[in-house]
Amino acid sequence: MKLERILPFARNLLEKAFLPDTIAVDATLGNGHDTYFLAKLASGTGHVYGFDIQEQAIQATKERLTEENLSNRVTLIHRGHEELKNSIPESAKGQITAAIFNLGYLPGGDKSIVTKPETTISAIEQLFDLLAVEGIIVLVIYHGHDEGAIERDELLQYVKGLDQLKAHVLRYQFENQKNNAPFIIAIEKRS
Ligand code: SAM
Repeated sequence: MKLERILPFARNLLEKAFLPDTIAVDATLGNGHDTYFLAKLASGTGHVYGFDIQEQAIQATKERLTEENLSNRVTLIHRGHEELKNSIPESAKGQITAAIFNLGYLPGGDKSIVTKPETTISAIEQLFDLLAVEGIIVLVIYHGHDEGAIERDELLQYVKGLDQLKAHVLRYQFENQKNNAPFIIAIEKRS
């Protein structure tokens, strides 16, 4: 298949956006796959800030990073991403070039704990303010569960309302896949 699948597409966007010396955010740690990916890209003063409300996600990510000797490149924050602005040091503000939200529930975890539209949108707004110009926020939207469908609709309404002079908004989705396959929204800061 020549068309890029959803998760590699998300990773490529992050890779393009996250320069070795800049700052990245993983807004939903889960099992730590995205944080691990970002930590590998970081070097020099590059750093990753990761958020999750579940201790299980913090521990899973911590173990992965320790095994790979990457812990010093990441700060794990056991708080909701809606507290992002107050959780990231002043020095990181304006230096963030890549961020990812992998929405929904923790695979292999409690399926009743899901991301919610109000807190997701609040975090996107805070992050957008802290983003460097040409920084990118990637949203991977899982809409196969009831709350996921509600979150999808609210997010689509929100991103469609973003001023085109301030942000480019892209949607990447396979139109004929069954079972509510995930899709991507990417927001790039223009000014
Ligand atoms: N990126 C992850 C990975 O690589 O394994 C998968 C993330 S999983 C789909 C979604 C995660 O979002 C869950 O671990 C859940 O605890 C977390 N979450 C839910 N609400 C949150 C919030 N307000 N702030 C931060 N994390 C939240």
